[in-house]
Amino acid sequence: MHKNFKNIEKIVYGRGSFGMMAEIIEPVRKENNHFFLFIIDQYFQDKELSTRLPAQSEDVVKFIDVDPHEPTTEQIDRLRDEILATKGIPSGVIGIGGGSIMDIAKAISLMFTNEGSSTLYQGLNLIKKPGIYHLGVPTISGTGAEVSMTAVLTGPEKKLGLKCEWTVFNQVILDPELIASVPRDKWFYTGMDTYIHCIESETGMLNNAFSHAYAEESLKLCKEIYLDKNSGQTAENDDKLMVASLMGGLSLTYSEVGVCHALSYGLSKILGEKHCYANCLAFQHLEDYYPQGLTEFRAMLQKHQITLPQNLSKNWSEAQITAMAQVAYNLHHMWNHAIGTDWKDKISLDTIKDLYRRM
Ligand code: NAD
Ligand code: ZN
Repeated sequence: MHKNFKNIEKIVYGRGSFGMMAEIIEPVRKENNHFFLFIIDQYFQDKELSTRLPAQSEDVVKFIDVDPHEPTTEQIDRLRDEILATKGIPSGVIGIGGGSIMDIAKAISLMFTNEGSSTLYQGLNLIKKPGIYHLGVPTISGTGAEVSMTAVLTGPEKKLGLKCEWTVFNQVILDPELIASVPRDKWFYTGMDTYIHCIESETGMLNNAFSHAYAEESLKLCKEIYLDKNSGQTAENDDKLMVASLMGGLSLTYSEVGVCHALSYGLSKILGEKHCYANCLAFQHLEDYYPQGLTEFRAMLQKHQITLPQNLSKNWSEAQITAMAQVAYNLHHMWNHAIGTDWKDKISLDTIKDLYRRM
């Protein structure tokens, strides 16, 4: 049936809006054990932003390095257990960073109230109870994690989100000043996640007027940011990118992602490639599925002098290719959207293996 999806409860957007956090969280401090858990990308540990946190003496501030790997179930369980054992249940969780940090904040807010390991809840609507208050602050834009209903975790068996309506943030602060320091390559790859979300949302059977309206506007912004004569990492474009990311996320929520994301999940799960970069590695070879999007993607690569590696598959074993194809094949909902309900007649494990061999 139709998706009945939950949106973020409150959003504040604009330069300097980060400064409103103290005021926003104050009424929530009376909840649970009267302290906040701040989860922040380690990049900010020695930066000015960390001096502007509205943290009080009772609060817990954790700087997390997201670069070694994407968030794992084990990492969430360990952090949750540590906080519960030392301080009890927080009033709320605040995640300040990219998709990884926002997913950690979303996941842990659910795991404070749902017993056992987060591996038990990887999937759709498996979470039993609402989590605690959680607030997200993106500092790099593109994944749409700020708006999505999922907190993507890599577990021992699968890379799959804790997906339900309680995953969605209670509050998001969109302050474009925070993304100014993103290095150019990450700015490109993460922004391309938005672009690919929209292309995939638009190209498939679940596309509809609602998802289309968001994708259309987000794609327009992406073109201004990455392709037009005023493209590049400017303040004006940062203002747009935060909105494009949000709208791309809303578009795919009401439609679905497709072939590129299925392949990307395989690259992340088996080879540990980061989501947005993995998308770019895959997307460049998907001319059979997204020809128009690919032409534009190539122009954007050229414009920003980004070179993606080629012939990677030469160094992959047959076992790795099979394992990646298996991960991708199992994402039935993506193939269903991209190819149609009869996708299994058209797409086999071998088709997918061949797509990996193109990389
Ligand atoms: P990330 O959070 O994994 O890493 C961001 C990188 O950029 C880090 O190196 C970080 O230190 C750096 N960074 C962040 N902000 C910065 C700033 N302002 N200045 C300088 N450096 C900065 O990256 P991402 O691409 O945003 O997120 C990827 C993750 O998001 C993956 O784990 C993926 O699974 C997840 N994801 C989730 C959803 C969802 O809907 N929940 C959607 C897509 C992807
Ligand atoms: Zn994505």
